[in-house]
Amino acid sequence: MFDKIVIANRGEIALRILRACRELGVKTVAVHSEPDRNLKHVLLADESVCIGPAASQDSYLHTPAIISAAEVTDAVAIHPGYGFLSENADFAEKVQQSGFTFIGPNPDTIRMMGDKISAKKAMIEAGIPCVPGSGGPLSDNDEKNLKLAHKIGYPVIIKAAGGGGGRGMRTVHTDATLLSAINLTRAEAGAAFGNDTLYMEKFLENPRHIEFQVLSDSHGNAIHLGERDCSMQRRHQKVVEEAPAPGITEEQRREIGERCTKACTDIGYLGAGTFEFLYENGKFYFIEMNTRVQVEHPVTEMITGFDIVKEQLHIAAGEPLSITQDQVRIQGHAIECRLNAEDPETFMPCPGTIDQFHMPGGPGIRCETHIYNGYPVPPYYDSMIGKLIAHGENRRSAIARMNTALSEIIIDGIKTNIPLQQDIISDAAFIDGEQNIHYLEKKLGLY
Ligand code: ADP
Repeated sequence: MFDKIVIANRGEIALRILRACRELGVKTVAVHSEPDRNLKHVLLADESVCIGPAASQDSYLHTPAIISAAEVTDAVAIHPGYGFLSENADFAEKVQQSGFTFIGPNPDTIRMMGDKISAKKAMIEAGIPCVPGSGGPLSDNDEKNLKLAHKIGYPVIIKAAGGGGGRGMRTVHTDATLLSAINLTRAEAGAAFGNDTLYMEKFLENPRHIEFQVLSDSHGNAIHLGERDCSMQRRHQKVVEEAPAPGITEEQRREIGERCTKACTDIGYLGAGTFEFLYENGKFYFIEMNTRVQVEHPVTEMITGFDIVKEQLHIAAGEPLSITQDQVRIQGHAIECRLNAEDPETFMPCPGTIDQFHMPGGPGIRCETHIYNGYPVPPYYDSMIGKLIAHGENRRSAIARMNTALSEIIIDGIKTNIPLQQDIISDAAFIDGEQNIHYLEKKLGLY
């Protein structure tokens, strides 16, 4: 196991990684921006290094500063968390070239999966079902694009090959708006991702978002930990996640899970990863692979009793997977509510100082957060301030526990989305497990 690692992230995930390191006896170096010097994991880490000012571009996204921090502290590996540089193949490559271990897949794998067109190609080769679409990049030829849309059949969705975070996609229902939608998305993608390559897919009208968690080691072993349902979304971003996905059978889990693990061994995947699918009328359609730990990994941990972050460290250290597929047992049901510092009605971010924080508790409750009394939520970063996870013997008891926890938690001083989460958890369709990716926006009158 590593002697010391750099945690190249902030907030709740940095704290989560620090806790896994503590358990494994790995020393930690927290790298942080100037306003983040009082982040909980920075205060708890063995060492900390300030790597730049508030702007992410000059700190959490500044590769030379992160690598220098690893050098001066004699760390041997870097954990990127999620977001920031976690899916940046150039960063992973620089980390390796500088003599450190990148805790994640090889740069080539990240590059292949980061381009959604090449990811889909690789998945089709590995026998994973995909959403029907262009099969490659869109050309500049209007005629060809119109023909393609007819062949796929409206509605279609125009997506950026390098897109992420729910951005860089546009739905089109008729010929009349196709070409302008392509031009707009192309311009946006170029500006946001530095890559204006686009592709086209059939737009599925009422799918659910279901994803499979995988882990793959350097000894040719791969396992899956079942699936999660992340259909409760706003602007293509997840708000509530759960595992297992309501209504998915043991047989479907085995079939899709096996295809995912086979794809992992086919491409020589290393570490934790997620295969994301849309699920409609009993069929799975691959949309993308995330080559990092996910925000929603705790729901899978709760139902399997397995520590995904610790396993990431074991795998990166060259150890074989600590369990086999036969040893994976799914027990009960888990739900996660993302807690955001935002206005529950307008969704505007709401930074500020936390005057009072009371953590909920009781059986099956897990609270992953870096906030504390007096902590100032800065305005510079993502508004997520934590996650509340409830585990129960079945879905009903997980919902009941989540309801209790949401009514107990107190976060004063800033506005949060807790009222919205309470509304979702007590929603009749959610209680019946009937959500799809448009449900929340329809409920909020946004769709
Ligand atoms: P990102 O990398 O930005 O998260 P994804 O490709 O994972 O993008 O898609 C995010 C979300 O966008 C999905 O969960 C779904 O809600 C919606 N989406 C993507 N592709 C389609 C599609 N073909 N049909 C309908 N919705 C889609």
